[in-house]
Amino acid sequence: MGHGERGAAMSEGVLLAALGRCVGQANLLVAPDDVEPYIQDWRGAFRGAALAVACPGTTDEVALVVRACREAGTPVVPQGGNTGMCGGAIPDASGRAVVVAMRRMHRVLDVDAVNDAMTVEAGCVLHHVQEAASAADRYFPLSLAAEGSCQIGGNLATNAGGINVLRYGNARDLVLGLEVVLPDATVWNGLRALRKDNRGYDMKQIFVGAEGTLGIITRAVLKLFPKPASRVSAWLALADPAAAVAVLERLRARCADELVAYELIGRACVDLVLAHVPSARDPFRQQHAWYVLLDFAGAVSEHALREKLETLLAEEADRGDLADAVIAQSLAQREDLWRLRESIPEATRATGPALRSDIAVAVSDIPEFVARATAAVHATMPGVRVVCFGHVGDGNLHFNVLPPALSGARADWAKPLYPMLYDVVDALRGSFSAEHGVGQAKRGELRRYKSEAEIAMMQTLKQAFDPMNLMNPGKIL
Ligand SMILES: Cc1cc2nc3c(=O)[nH]c(=O)nc-3n(C[C@H](O)[C@H](O)[C@H](O)COP(=O)(O)OP(=O)(O)OC[C@H]3O[C@@H](n4cnc5c(N)ncnc54)[C@H](O)[C@@H]3O)c2cc1C
Repeated sequence: MGHGERGAAMSEGVLLAALGRCVGQANLLVAPDDVEPYIQDWRGAFRGAALAVACPGTTDEVALVVRACREAGTPVVPQGGNTGMCGGAIPDASGRAVVVAMRRMHRVLDVDAVNDAMTVEAGCVLHHVQEAASAADRYFPLSLAAEGSCQIGGNLATNAGGINVLRYGNARDLVLGLEVVLPDATVWNGLRALRKDNRGYDMKQIFVGAEGTLGIITRAVLKLFPKPASRVSAWLALADPAAAVAVLERLRARCADELVAYELIGRACVDLVLAHVPSARDPFRQQHAWYVLLDFAGAVSEHALREKLETLLAEEADRGDLADAVIAQSLAQREDLWRLRESIPEATRATGPALRSDIAVAVSDIPEFVARATAAVHATMPGVRVVCFGHVGDGNLHFNVLPPALSGARADWAKPLYPMLYDVVDALRGSFSAEHGVGQAKRGELRRYKSEAEIAMMQTLKQAFDPMNLMNPGKIL
């Protein structure tokens, strides 16, 4: 008898009893109120249903859960902090799936300061990972606004980006080893802390960005870095994105690794934040069309770093690309500047339904993209407002659009604009998903914009790892 037939024969009651034995009855949630937080995302954009939520405490328990579900022919949906943007951690509406919530696996297992590596369980909240690194006088650079609730397993599964990619790379660049429970319940222990290992395919990278469709990440070895002694932020005013890219190129040439963040912010973003966030203040008296928020970090003193930044910015002002600049003089000022940047998504949400995107193009194509995309949305819907910001140092923009009349817009008003925007991205050989993934939200775009050959390779991989299609089905592919 094949697995599928056995699965059909196994009743839900039998599976629930088996799962209770795997994780302990207290760690198997079945009551609707208990299951509720796990079947919808934080924005309320995706809602599904689940037979149960299993909360394993060890890798062996994860493997037992996966085995029991496989024998029952039951889909498994891995879930971390449930902060994802594309519904990847939310089960479908059938109510058949078991959500595997990783929150009990939250231990930091080892910090090796000599090897600049740390080993953590996948359910570790990102902020705790950062704190544990810091306690050992080391630095784990992955940083994003959801860091108080997202988990390192979720960060790896989505290949998260955040504000320090320019200097340190994505989650993909920060992992040395993984332990994964495969769809057939095999535990693969790839917990190596090597920087060089050329023994064939790099299997850990297959699971990074796979959004839980190829297996459940249970532990990870992460890369650490020297802790920067100082960090300085500046807010620049510029005429256009071309000036922002030109300044970026010269700053990188002059200071290389000290430039760790470089965020582009359109004026409309600042207006939105000032309107919706009471504590927010405009850093300049005069309005400017575009801004950049940048961070310098280094091994030298804050004073030395600030002096260097002042010199570089003065040179940029002399060249004419910089209309104005302010360097934060205190931690409080630095936090104020970053709050302005990090409040943009919240302020955009407060205005109602908007077109939201997470695109990537080559950094050198940023000005062309902004010009083409702005022209295209205005030509299609006159009166719309472009709210554009993002990690421009990585070529990643959130090019968002608000409807012409802010009140009364239908939830789906922006639907016709998406293909038009993504066509602009595609024409520049860019990506419709820079850091948020595909999940269940962008499967149509994947089909439209990835080549047949690339989709065929992905399907082959999925089939090889998960021939029963039980590991987070309906996501990505
Ligand atoms: C305010 C806010 C700001 C954000 N800013 C950024 C940003 O700057 N950059 C960025 O990249 N993202 C950002 N995000 C998106 C989100 O925080 C990231 O995608 C994060 O990495 C998801 O982690 P999570 O633990 O919440 O995963 P979840 O949302 O729980 O899951 C995401 C996906 O990963 C899978 N998954 C989760 N855990 C595992 C595991 N252990 N093994 C296998 N698969 C797993 C799930 O099945 C799902 O497909 C932001 C989100 C919010 C709410």
